Amino acid sequence: MVNIPHVVILGGGFGGLSAANELRNTLSSSQVKITVIDKKDWFMVGFAKLWIMNGTRTFENSIGSLKELEKKEIDFVKDEITSINFESNHVETKSQKFSFDFLIISMGAVLAPQKIPGLVKNGFNLYDHEQLSEIHDKLQNITSGKIAICIMGMPYKCPPAPFEASLLINSMLRKRGIRDSVQIDFYSPAPITLPAAGPEVSKRILELVNSEKIVFHNSSKIKSVEPKKLIFENSEADFDLLLAIPPHIAPKVIYDSRLAKESEFIPIDRSCKTSFENVFAVGDVTNLTVTEKITVPKAGVFAEGEGTTVAKNIISKIQSKEDSALFDGKGGCFIESGRGTASVIEVDMFTNDKPSTNLTELTADNLSKKIEFEKERLSKWL
Ligand SMILES: Cc1cc2nc3c(=O)[nH]c(=O)nc-3n(C[C@H](O)[C@H](O)[C@H](O)COP(=O)(O)OP(=O)(O)OC[C@H]3O[C@@H](n4cnc5c(N)ncnc54)[C@H](O)[C@@H]3O)c2cc1C
Repeated sequence: MVNIPHVVILGGGFGGLSAANELRNTLSSSQVKITVIDKKDWFMVGFAKLWIMNGTRTFENSIGSLKELEKKEIDFVKDEITSINFESNHVETKSQKFSFDFLIISMGAVLAPQKIPGLVKNGFNLYDHEQLSEIHDKLQNITSGKIAICIMGMPYKCPPAPFEASLLINSMLRKRGIRDSVQIDFYSPAPITLPAAGPEVSKRILELVNSEKIVFHNSSKIKSVEPKKLIFENSEADFDLLLAIPPHIAPKVIYDSRLAKESEFIPIDRSCKTSFENVFAVGDVTNLTVTEKITVPKAGVFAEGEGTTVAKNIISKIQSKEDSALFDGKGGCFIESGRGTASVIEVDMFTNDKPSTNLTELTADNLSKKIEFEKERLSKWL
């Protein structure tokens, strides 16, 4: 009997789905067995969360079912991954055990609001899909006071997203005719708006939010949250509604299996290899250094590019070829203005070994491209 290599993919998000599809588009089910494991059975493009927040979308209309993978002869298992064993090359979930020849770890980052004392009780987690409809209701009912958007740890997913959230909230309040009665404050621990995008792009993002009377407070390192009060290392600030971007950590399994040190992410290079043979990691669960101070940002486009890179490297191994692909570090993140337009932050992380970035003009065409980006991912992957 022929032994078909088994690729097990942990996590069916951007990284896992791009890898699974690239593998299956190149190799048939007689050449490779692919299993995707995820604790949930749906996938959503991250930015759709902000459309649920502003009420232009529902959760149900924003997701694709991971069960669709079965149609492509990709096995899908809905279960929680509980351990990874590198001596016997197997993964355990709550109810099953899977042996692998190749492993792709694409488990994303975990939101950890509990790391900030008082946050869970006194504020909302803007990135938690389960809190979005309540956030929407609060935004629809506020008539005056202060909304605080606060980044509570670095790195976090999609660096421009909280700025985009502030612009969409601004638009909601404007449409209700109450913008002048509600102050929007944006707090970040960073000295500039988007450190990974560099000072030039950061300045233009600052100008964009300032033009909508959103106040950016830089170098604001959060310590704790009290009722209606943010306590920073060097100051305090009042709020009526707090939308937080909590600290991000790797899933517990990653620390338990010693793939990363406590509070860190899995270190990888541009081939997305880990320190274990035939074990790769991609996306938000990783840390890919670009320069001493800059790492590849946590974004779907980069997880997708890394997923494709890993699939190519596994295909080469299965076909006994020497080729080794490197992640190119290219991608773009949309930033929507709330006025029917968007711009794109175009990024090339590895030009001359340092990132180069460009912010395009705000246009309606870019907003259409953003809508298309989501449609394309859902239709080509699921
Ligand atoms: C509001 C918002 C806006 C965004 N906008 C953009 C944007 O415009 N462009 C962009 O490129 N990116 C954007 N992102 C970021 C993007 O969503 C993430 O960077 C991307 O999802 C990372 O892909 P990933 O595959 O690494 O992880 P994920 O997509 O998070 O997938 C990880 C998967 O692993 C599963 N998992 C984790 N632990 C376990 C376990 N123990 N057992 C079983 N399953 C497990 C999870 O359920 C999840 O499905 C945005 C994010 C947010 C929140």
